[in-house]
Amino acid sequence: MDGMTPDLTGEAFRQQARDWLRAHVPPGFLADQPGHAPPGLAQCIAWEAAMHRAGLAGITWPRAYGGHGRTLREHLIANQEIGRLALPESVSSISKELAGPIILAIGTEEQKRRFLPPILEMREIWCQGFSEPEAGSDLAGLRTRARRDGAGWRVTGQKIWTSGAAKSQRCLLLARTGPVEDRHKGLALFAVPMDSPGIRVVPIMQIDGQDHFAEVFFDDVRVAPEDALGAPDEGWTAALRVLSIERATNRMYRAWRFENELRHLVAACRQDAALAPLLEDASYRQRIATTVMEIEMVKGHVEPVVRSLVAGEAIGARGSLMKLHWSEAHQRFASLALELLSQASPGAAPFVQAAQRRFQGLYLKSRAETIYAGTTEIQLGIIADRVLQLPRGK
Ligand SMILES: Cc1cc2nc3c(=O)[nH]c(=O)nc-3n(C[C@H](O)[C@H](O)[C@H](O)COP(=O)(O)OP(=O)(O)OC[C@H]3O[C@@H](n4cnc5c(N)ncnc54)[C@H](O)[C@@H]3O)c2cc1C
Repeated sequence: MDGMTPDLTGEAFRQQARDWLRAHVPPGFLADQPGHAPPGLAQCIAWEAAMHRAGLAGITWPRAYGGHGRTLREHLIANQEIGRLALPESVSSISKELAGPIILAIGTEEQKRRFLPPILEMREIWCQGFSEPEAGSDLAGLRTRARRDGAGWRVTGQKIWTSGAAKSQRCLLLARTGPVEDRHKGLALFAVPMDSPGIRVVPIMQIDGQDHFAEVFFDDVRVAPEDALGAPDEGWTAALRVLSIERATNRMYRAWRFENELRHLVAACRQDAALAPLLEDASYRQRIATTVMEIEMVKGHVEPVVRSLVAGEAIGARGSLMKLHWSEAHQRFASLALELLSQASPGAAPFVQAAQRRFQGLYLKSRAETIYAGTTEIQLGIIADRVLQLPRGK
């Protein structure tokens, strides 16, 4: 099949998405199935391109830019179906969920036609060059400088923690066009080709032994005028918009994937002689029940966000509630999973060993969940200031 049937809505759309996924997920992709083998980059790219052709990526983007022109409600339905399966995380979520939406919002017609189709067809992966060694939570302190060079720009500076930099073809770069003292004024957003002369990517080894993120150095990098996104002074507003998307709508499948993980954990415990009795232990039962409630609460954040977006309202600070709740609950769950599975019988069955491998990886990754897209403390500050409008202490 090439694309979902155009006039399908609601449950019929869900059924078609579910059927397509069941029929087309490549062997070994699902982390809760026997024979799971983590796919490499090329396999993930091929899979995500196939999902797009099937109508399961770029769901709400206009057809003129390679999208499927459907509703946000259908995007949510597809995400629920994607989340229900233990699929690998997208290797291009920054492109599809952060760069794409911001290009749609502030890009020129020419930029939309040039940048968006390659993202959906998986010909171009983007990374997000916001954080710097001295500017993470305090993003307005960033120092990477963009100075005028004829009609274009020259960029010099350093980014850090840039996820996927080594595999990316473009960087959504936030750089300073004015003095550092101007803070959030005089910042601009650029779409910089990663093979530009003067860019150096230095991978950083993570706690799980992978090097998915990197330091990125810009040494007098020439940026063409047509690769500036929005007006030179629009960078801060655009960056806030990117962050709000990142916190509220990025990976909308999260709650459903979380549910899949919990099911997998309980199924693995049931199959092991040492773990099965732990499911009867009062304190573990309580922690599992709490996880179920937390999953329902994370789901509960999704609907109001979708409703607001459908009504054309900004999500703003409410994205912080979603980000805070999901990351904290998921981190607690990952600790619980590791604690349980570490008590499995020696020589546990392959299904239990597969769960151990999945949840060890998940545990290590979960340590970063309360940091990226804005730390827990930053989300609490935003909720205090902007949602609750509490007075600031002296
Ligand atoms: C896995 C991972 C992937 C990432 N990917 C990207 C990416 O692709 N692109 C990108 O640009 N960035 C990325 N980041 C960076 C991420 O956005 C920053 O790490 C994050 O914003 C925190 O900034 P920082 O590391 O500089 O810590 P800091 O800002 O130095 O914070 C250090 C500590 O101080 C606390 N703190 C800071 N300010 C306050 C305050 N005002 N009130 C209370 N407490 C405060 C923080 O909560 C934290 O505990 C990634 C990070 C991780 C871990």
